[in-house]
Amino acid sequence: MMGGDTSLGSQGLFSAEGAVRDFGEGLRMLQLFANVCLVETGEGVVVFDVGLPIDGHRIVGELRSFTHAPVRYIVYGHGHADHAFGTRALLEDAEERGHPRPVIVAHENLPARFDRYRRMLPYNEHINRIQFAIPEGIPAFPWDYIYPDEVFRDALTLSLGGLTFELRHARGETDDHVWMWVPERRALCTSDFWVWSCPNVGNPFKVQRYALEWAQALEEMAGLGPELMLPGHGSAMRGGADIAEALDTVARALRHLDEQVVDMLNRGMWQEEILTSYDWPQEFADSPYLAPIYGHPHFVVQALLRQYHGWYDGNPSHVFPSGRGKIAEQVLDLAGGSRRILERARSLAGDGDPQLALHLVDFVLDAGAEPRREALELKAELLEALAAAEASFIARNIFLGGVRETRKELE
Ligand SMILES: [Zn+2]
Repeated sequence: MMGGDTSLGSQGLFSAEGAVRDFGEGLRMLQLFANVCLVETGEGVVVFDVGLPIDGHRIVGELRSFTHAPVRYIVYGHGHADHAFGTRALLEDAEERGHPRPVIVAHENLPARFDRYRRMLPYNEHINRIQFAIPEGIPAFPWDYIYPDEVFRDALTLSLGGLTFELRHARGETDDHVWMWVPERRALCTSDFWVWSCPNVGNPFKVQRYALEWAQALEEMAGLGPELMLPGHGSAMRGGADIAEALDTVARALRHLDEQVVDMLNRGMWQEEILTSYDWPQEFADSPYLAPIYGHPHFVVQALLRQYHGWYDGNPSHVFPSGRGKIAEQVLDLAGGSRRILERARSLAGDGDPQLALHLVDFVLDAGAEPRREALELKAELLEALAAAEASFIARNIFLGGVRETRKELE
């Protein structure tokens, strides 16, 4: 798989190589935290995805290292912080050069996303800081929103300098997701439909995402016979057979999870049973295209449950539950006190089950019982153990965020 990087840690997924990669015939990709696709035509440049707010000047610098032509279109692959926010520097560059202002194109759902982000800025700061382990003092979410000039619903075709840019919408990681096909070059810009990881369908913090439609989009892409794939994150991929196999594998995996969840719901199963019994075949577990380094099959199942089902978990005791604190007090009392619980937690951790141990420690913490410091210290240790063994970037950051919170309380 030429140009592909199969040795993927989460570093691989977000490997910001920084340099522009030139694929010939006017196709380039700037590999930053998220990728920026630059397509040169005889009448100007099309930029697909524009990175984080801090990426704007970098994009202009790299672009101007190989062309002085105007940027005619900026396409937002979707409205996430790492794909639609380097725009201002490109607009300023156009103004300084006396070029016409680039036309910004996006899906019709993108403006509502920007509206929601602006309304919930503190919340988004809060969750993104945890998801990406962003230190305090560094902004964790964009505040400068440049809305599209032109939006479309299902598909839009742009023509420029002899090239065709087919923009297609499908719901996947977002409800405003767009991918781009340049038929003359057999080139595909996927935005986050392809990120060298198990798709981030069930992000633990974020609104609904769409596994089945994601699979359908990948199948549609494969049907076009791309020879070059420029993904949302990570290295480009070349070669029709490899790209087809990659797209097909991920599409089949998403369909497999979707079909199982639908089938199990139809059979009257509830969330916990589904989450602990779904099947993830070895073929997918071993696939370099589905490494659970960002998304995770467990998260995909969570998203499918949320998409097809309400919050009721099948147990009437949980409709209006007593608070966890009250339940924990009763359990502590029956168990003969918190020391016995902590002792058992240590023994479970020693036997290699820090997850089960955590549930026991939580009884002590939820009950507000002493010895609180000891319980907090044990919780931090257990979370560190989980983080050390966790492949998923998001799950690991949640565990490490928990360690920081717990240590903060200890101080
Ligand atoms: Zn992204």
